[in-house]
Amino acid sequence: MLDRDLPSQGGLSVLEFRQVSKTYDAGHGRVTALKDLSISVRPGEFLTVVGPSGCGKSTLLNLLVGLEQPSGGDILLNGSRSIDRRRIGYVMQNDNLYPWRTLRENVEFPLELRNVPEAERRRISLDYLAKVHLRDFADRYPHELSGGMRQRGNIVRALSFSPDLIIMDEPFGPLDAQTRLLLQNQLLELWADEGKTVIFITHDLPEAIALGDRVMVLTARPGRVKSVHDVPIPRPRNVRHLHEDSVYRDLLSRLGDELAEEISAGGVSQ
Ligand code: ADP
Repeated sequence: MLDRDLPSQGGLSVLEFRQVSKTYDAGHGRVTALKDLSISVRPGEFLTVVGPSGCGKSTLLNLLVGLEQPSGGDILLNGSRSIDRRRIGYVMQNDNLYPWRTLRENVEFPLELRNVPEAERRRISLDYLAKVHLRDFADRYPHELSGGMRQRGNIVRALSFSPDLIIMDEPFGPLDAQTRLLLQNQLLELWADEGKTVIFITHDLPEAIALGDRVMVLTARPGRVKSVHDVPIPRPRNVRHLHEDSVYRDLLSRLGDELAEEISAGGVSQ
C-alpha cells in the first residue's frame, strides 16, 4: 500500500518529519540534499529506508542526531520540536565500542551516563548480552571479538537504556553474508522482545524488506519520499527463508524497479 500522503498522526507517532528540507552551501553553489520529506513513524514500528547513493540518507540521520539543522520543515520526537537526544539510541556502520572497556562495560556506558546504580547496570548488561549469545564474552575487550560479536554488542548497547527510538545506519554493512543473516535474525528477535521503534537505513533492498514493517524509498537527489510500502509478511520472520515467500519476491521485484528508476535518474542529473 502506498501511504506517502499519510496524514499527521499527531500524538500517535514517535517521530515525525514534516516537509523537511536541507540545503547545503557547498562552495561551488547550493546543494539540496532533502526536499519536503514527510513521514510519521509509529510507536513500535520498524521502518526501513532505501535510496540511491547521495539521496540524503546520511543527511536525514545528521538532522536527527543534531549535527545539522533543517533548512525548512520540522522534526518532532514524541510530538515535540525540542528533541531530547538522550532518548535516541544509535547503531552506526562501524561499531564504536571503546577499546579500553570490556564488552560489558561498553554496554553499561549509556547507563553510567544516566546514573543507573552499578548492580542494576550489571543486571541489564548481562541480560542483554545473554539475549545475543554473548554472556560468555562479557569480560572480553573489543579486539578479542569478531566483527559480528562487536556489532551485536553495539546493538544491545543502544537498547540498554530503553530509548524511545533506535536509529540504525547500515549496521551490517561490513559483515560477511552469513553473519549478516544471523544478525538480521537476532535483531528481529530482539525487536520482537522489546517492541522498540526503529529506523533502519540500508542500501540493501532484500534487507530492507526482510526487516521492515514498512519500506520508505527515497528519490535520487534531492531526496524526497518516492513511496512507502507496507511489508505484509507475517512475523516472526526467518530471513534465511524469505526468498521462498512470494510476497517477498513480489515486493523485491517492484521495489527493485523503483530503485533502478531512481539510480538512473540520479545518474542523468549528476
Ligand atoms: P547518502 O547518505 O544518501 O549517500 P548524503 O546525505 O551523504 O547522501 O548526501 C546528499 C547530498 O548532499 C550529496 O549530494 C552530498 O554531496 C551533499 N552533502 C552532504 N553533506 C554535505 C555537506 N556537509 N556540505 C555540502 N554538501 C553535502
